[in-house]
Amino acid sequence: MHTQTLELLSGSPGIRQTLQVLRFGAPGAGPKVYIQSALHADEVPAILVAQHLAQLLAQAEADGRVLGEIVLVPFANPIGLGQYLFGQHHGRFDVRDGGNFNRGYAELATQLAASVRPLLTNVVAHNTQVIRSAMAQAVEALTATTPTQDLKNKLLALAIDADVVLDLHCDTDAVMHLYALTPQAAIAEQLGAALGARAVLLATESGDSPFDEACTRPWFDLQRLLPEFPIDLACFGATVELRGETDTSHILAEQDAQGLCTFLAQRGVLSGVADAVRGPQCAPTPLSGSEPITAPHAGVVVFHRNPGERVVAGDVIADVVDALTGTVTPLRCKSDGLLYARCGSRWAVPGKRLAKIAGTSLARTGKLLSP
Ligand SMILES: [Zn+2]
Repeated sequence: MHTQTLELLSGSPGIRQTLQVLRFGAPGAGPKVYIQSALHADEVPAILVAQHLAQLLAQAEADGRVLGEIVLVPFANPIGLGQYLFGQHHGRFDVRDGGNFNRGYAELATQLAASVRPLLTNVVAHNTQVIRSAMAQAVEALTATTPTQDLKNKLLALAIDADVVLDLHCDTDAVMHLYALTPQAAIAEQLGAALGARAVLLATESGDSPFDEACTRPWFDLQRLLPEFPIDLACFGATVELRGETDTSHILAEQDAQGLCTFLAQRGVLSGVADAVRGPQCAPTPLSGSEPITAPHAGVVVFHRNPGERVVAGDVIADVVDALTGTVTPLRCKSDGLLYARCGSRWAVPGKRLAKIAGTSLARTGKLLSP
């Protein structure tokens, strides 16, 4: 294991922040995998999984079982890790300007289409190489004026030429689930099976350019922008939600790290992983069919259903109890599906998303992720 420390742009005199990068295997020896934890810095189960995973990968490397290159960033957001405000940790948004740490990554496809068009041929492997190299150059040329922008650019530079990108997060109160690109459903299902995911949510664009899509969507977009050339979807990416924010357990983290190793073996970057292949626990469903249960007015939230439960259209998921009148408003779901996540607070403001259901009957449009 090789440890690298990258220094982030300083936002203030005397303040120095660094990013730790763990490297296993050798560049060019096989597929490249990039894994990062807790880009939303308060989603700490991912940090624990990274610690267990680092041990497994160090052992695999000592045994000569790393067939390619694995880059692991065990805490991807040192800026957010330090954001304590009035006794509370705030790791999702940058307190400097309110920006979400997992949105607004560089969208490269249009600029890449122009730069690679003269270099592409009718050979897929050649085109993959040309596009990868152009992507790396484009990310290298990105500039930053704030520590957060610098962090985003540095993370993207570490991941952009990988065959597999896994962004490890968690939800507030949830079962294991993940997000990936629709045309990569088969690999997403394989990852979901390895991790025991209860929901696999697919979209071609979920909105506002989250990290995994900044790595995967350029390939998909280039296929549409340059239809005259054969272009592979050469990067599989997923955002993995490692259950809820309080789900820190050595047993679960060890199990998740083993599940990731199973998937890495299936993708050809590890060998000698015990064959623990499990069948998928769910079929992938469209992210556009994920139903948010939304509070119509302020009040106290009383849940009737738990994460991991199957629900049918018309079921009462929660009540919202009005503090002025005592009126109880039951909130029913429109979809059959699996309740995969709930909010943490039991006080609702109008419009707050209280729960999410992986269904198939809705077809939402616009921005599909939580803000
Ligand atoms: Zn997150």
